[in-house]
Amino acid sequence: MTNKANILIIEDEEAIRTGLIDVLIYHGFTTDFAADGNTGLEKAKTGKYDLILLDIMLPGINGFDVCERIRQKDREQPIIMLTAKTSDDDIIQGLQLGADDYVSKPFSVAQLILRIQAVLRRSGFTDRDTHIIELSINDKKCNQLKIDTRNLSAQIDDKHVHFTRREMDILVYLFNHADRPVARDELLHKLWGYAKNLELETRTVDIHIAKLRRKIEKNPAKPVFLTTVRGAGYRLITG
Ligand code: CA
Repeated sequence: MTNKANILIIEDEEAIRTGLIDVLIYHGFTTDFAADGNTGLEKAKTGKYDLILLDIMLPGINGFDVCERIRQKDREQPIIMLTAKTSDDDIIQGLQLGADDYVSKPFSVAQLILRIQAVLRRSGFTDRDTHIIELSINDKKCNQLKIDTRNLSAQIDDKHVHFTRREMDILVYLFNHADRPVARDELLHKLWGYAKNLELETRTVDIHIAKLRRKIEKNPAKPVFLTTVRGAGYRLITG
């Protein structure tokens, strides 16, 4: 993982493509591009992009087909379709084929960036340059935590705590998915890059969770932040 989200732009119109590249770089993303469907699909298959901006009308294979073929290989690749106009049919077809969202051309830069950030957030991507994780539970013990993901550290009461990069990746991932329990399989897949359903490896996750609890919980045996949801995985309680 790097700090900057890497975005692939698949768009044949040069003016739009270069405009997108400029805008995305200005907003702190790294970019790559393809000017036709076939090249775009080949690049997308490498799996190295955090998000793909995908035009519909393209030379070679069109954007719908590119989207469908990416989805056959990778169900989780974030994709935003660029629809030529506010065409409900295009939007519906794109979403049915598995696109995460769409932006209608001509689009405002602000809207485009917001959509990109929202899709990235949902996909679990984290920009370490900007993240401070704040957890706060108003129980009688007044539990509060402020974790600096960039410095891999937190001030907890009067002690200064340091995290390993892996521990921080777990915390950030759980924070970004705090609305639900996250399964061990999912953590192994997303953070370690393992294939899913590796029974033996789930212990690895448990060990890291135990270490994290010793760092952030007042009573690691009775966690209030990093909780276990029986049969479902781990869930971070943010407040
Ligand atoms: Ca086009």
